[in-house]
Amino acid sequence: MKAAVVNSHHHVDVVDKKLRPLEHGEALLSMECCGVCHTDLHVKNGDFGDKTGVILGHEGIGVVKQVGPGVSSLKVGDRASVAWFFEGCGHCEYCTSGNETLCRDVKNAGYSVDGGMAEECIVVADYAVKVPDGLDSAAASSVTCAGVTTYKAVKVSDIKPGQWIAIYGLGGLGNLALQYAKNVFNAKVIAVDVNDNQLDFAKEMGADLVINSRTEDAAKFIQEKTGGAHAAVVTAVAKAAFNSAVDAVRAGARVVAVGLPPESMSLDIPRLVLDGIQVVGSLVGTRKDLAEAFQFAAEGKVVPKVTRRPIEDINTIFEEMEQGKIQGRMVIDFGQK
Ligand SMILES: [Zn+2]
Ligand SMILES: [Zn+2]
Repeated sequence: MKAAVVNSHHHVDVVDKKLRPLEHGEALLSMECCGVCHTDLHVKNGDFGDKTGVILGHEGIGVVKQVGPGVSSLKVGDRASVAWFFEGCGHCEYCTSGNETLCRDVKNAGYSVDGGMAEECIVVADYAVKVPDGLDSAAASSVTCAGVTTYKAVKVSDIKPGQWIAIYGLGGLGNLALQYAKNVFNAKVIAVDVNDNQLDFAKEMGADLVINSRTEDAAKFIQEKTGGAHAAVVTAVAKAAFNSAVDAVRAGARVVAVGLPPESMSLDIPRLVLDGIQVVGSLVGTRKDLAEAFQFAAEGKVVPKVTRRPIEDINTIFEEMEQGKIQGRMVIDFGQK
């Protein structure tokens, strides 16, 4: 089977690979789609350590072709996911308290184990989340990473119906955050970005207020228009966005960090103490979060923007990504020969 494998020159080779036989608790997926994520770019560039030989991909959707001994959660014919949160240890304090993504012994698809950017992929059946009927596989692949990450972040923000939520960064992640916030949580959304195209698209998707933070002071604007947002989700990868978000919220609000700029943010301690502001991080989502995120997408509340591409395009896609040319999500389609 064809697989996208990282080579030692920070490139990806599409090679013919044979998978090992299934072990206890595992299932074999015949892959339909796998989204290409910024994280894959980091993995193949060796930013998280040398990953030569690993099969990329943590936004995979496939159909179960075979199940190993002891599998009861999946059967042949089911559609299921290959997500960044590939497997937890199952017994630590995080795994047993609804925080399994924080497991210290976590395995990540397309990083510490072979991922879904291949015609076939071995998954741990209990950790592969079933995709509901009515949700297209390409759309589902986007929900597996960007969707669940933003759905979880909005959940963590503790926003209530009718309240204002500021979303910083309206790219692939932010656009889904907007849709979950608006159409699932019934919040009013303030979209903040430095790119007018992204803001136009945000408006189309129902943003109540949009603001270009390159030309205006976003925090000041939000304070004036709304009296301060009740929560903020920051998907942008600039520290300025994190600082602005803290200034844009009202007392008692929560600022949820999702984007990963390499720097530190500055925090005004009196502001945190006197106004009871919470700044928290949110990392992907649990299996339960993913099942919920899938269901809302299947109901049409959230529609990821995807473009299907053949696996042979993988290095071109990474070039486009590095040049900032990608809108929405590029999805490797294994049905496309
Ligand atoms: Zn991803
Ligand atoms: Zn654990």
